Amino acid sequence: MKKIASAYIIVLSLLTMPLAQAQVNPNMVQAGIDALTALTLTNAQVAAYSKEAVKEMDAKNKVAGPNDPYAKRLKRIVGRYRSVNGIPLNYKVYLTPDVNAFATADGSVRVFKGLMDIMSDAEILAIIGHEIGHVINKDSHDAMKAALQRSAIRNAVASQGGTLGELSRSQLGGLADYMVGASHSRQQETDADDYAYAFLKRNGHGVLPLATSFEKLAQAGGKVPQFLSTHPDSKSRAARVRAKAKNDGLKR
Ligand SMILES: [Zn+2]
Repeated sequence: MKKIASAYIIVLSLLTMPLAQAQVNPNMVQAGIDALTALTLTNAQVAAYSKEAVKEMDAKNKVAGPNDPYAKRLKRIVGRYRSVNGIPLNYKVYLTPDVNAFATADGSVRVFKGLMDIMSDAEILAIIGHEIGHVINKDSHDAMKAALQRSAIRNAVASQGGTLGELSRSQLGGLADYMVGASHSRQQETDADDYAYAFLKRNGHGVLPLATSFEKLAQAGGKVPQFLSTHPDSKSRAARVRAKAKNDGLKR
């Protein structure tokens, strides 16, 4: 495994080296390339790494305790939604002013105080529905897998044959940051919106809070929250939800 790691480092240094200096045994380069493509991860491994990265996030952020008003409010909002499609969900509030929320492949949902301060209960549930959509649609899984494929972390993972537990704090921190900042494609965002809409409708909630949450964010302007950092913009997402609701004859 050590060998694979060093071959990988050679390829990495090759990539960062001016071409004229790059005179290395081509077999070695090939070995490095093989190592680059050798890292395969099972779904369970990706979920396990997600869990570790969330643990790191939880350690880095101020988590609302069970008696904190924010934690109590979130508990009330998510109510019976303790698992979806067989994936157990766990929720926590970070007592930080960011307007943000994220969910990870292992079913961890994290909501920031800043978001809860500007949204109604129904809007928070709608946003959580969107985040759960990313989990169900495997977007969170794909984002974590992509993070694990990144150089520094990948090297550590590959050298251990994909076993967990040996990542350093800083590597875990890197994974955690990547997870929170993970931006999904336009299509993934639209699909997650559709999931949230169907989730609310199916469970007897109003669907329009999904639209009003986007409208609030559009109105707030300025800093776009990370979880909505990709296009389409909040306004057109809200309009899309409203059009769907009209089409379905839903008034709330
Ligand atoms: Zn999203």
